Amino acid sequence: MRGRLGVEAALVDGVFVAGDIEVDDGRIAAVGVESSGGRGFAVPGFIDLQVNGFGGVDFLDADAAAYRRAGDALLETGVTAYLPTLITSPEEQVLAAMSQVPVDDLGRPRILGMHLEGPFLSPNRLGTHEASARRDPDPALLERLLDAGPVRLMTLAPELPGAEALIDRLLERGVVVAVGHTDAIAAQAHAAFDRGARSVSHLFNAMRPFLHRDPGIVGAALAREDVFVSIIVDGIHLAPETVQTVAHAARGRLVLITDAIAAAPRGVGPSSLGELDVQVHEGAVRGPDGVLAGSVLTMVEAVRNLHALGVPLEDAVTAATTTPARVLGDSELGRIDVGLPADIVVLNDRIEIERVLVAGEVRVAV
Ligand code: ZN
Repeated sequence: MRGRLGVEAALVDGVFVAGDIEVDDGRIAAVGVESSGGRGFAVPGFIDLQVNGFGGVDFLDADAAAYRRAGDALLETGVTAYLPTLITSPEEQVLAAMSQVPVDDLGRPRILGMHLEGPFLSPNRLGTHEASARRDPDPALLERLLDAGPVRLMTLAPELPGAEALIDRLLERGVVVAVGHTDAIAAQAHAAFDRGARSVSHLFNAMRPFLHRDPGIVGAALAREDVFVSIIVDGIHLAPETVQTVAHAARGRLVLITDAIAAAPRGVGPSSLGELDVQVHEGAVRGPDGVLAGSVLTMVEAVRNLHALGVPLEDAVTAATTTPARVLGDSELGRIDVGLPADIVVLNDRIEIERVLVAGEVRVAV
């Protein structure tokens, strides 16, 4: 099945190229196709590396039908691929949740594997994660987790005793290592990055703060060119100046995540994150102690928010598409180019979603 998208331009490798896109059999057959009367511009489908839940669904307690509901809700926000993310929870609960992950869910956002955020996190930087389920590095537990389902990314605290062995094992098993919920000082952070940890999860949130003579993991990550950093740009998790500073320092290696919970995208009032009761008020999600507990952010909002802070639209979109794909080492997704899968979001001038395609099929048309 061959056809044109009917757009006026497309973001190709970080640059807007005038012209239409031709799609053939689920893949992009041509870009920059001369045409008249195109509307909107095409960008790669968004990739979210950290989603705890969405559309009323919490991935800690989701069956196949729930995954479909969450997937449909994510598609409406432009997400065409994601990592369902499980926060620190009792082992049985995590294993049960992992057994439910659909392996083949054609036509919905691609599930690229799970993101396990925990349980090997710093007791000092847990945020809302359940302290009783937190664990020091435990190689046997790690094996049980890795055997239970398709783990793609794990966030851990690299300063914990025995974390080096976990990092080595994760890399051996092909799992991307991120650091987060950590009290690491800069030297410990550098050691983890040198060992192969590739990214930092929600930079600044739930980690040792950046100080001028104690830069911690934040300073170490921003100072080196080979580390990706993810941030939550919902206007709540980080001050605008912080986002702008990170965008400057980490240009080309900045990743937007939503860290969304089941209440996303439009929930207000009482909700939950795993076993935790939370309240959604004026766009902020907080646990009983007032600590932030995820977000109700959508990826298209994150792109708009980042752009509104002065980041060029090309860069803001890249942080939601190409760069998260690079974190996963995936060279096919997150880009528009000839031969690649036609996972595409068509936006209007207000950066609102007009259409969403997965593998060339229109899944959302506004
Ligand atoms: Zn977190």
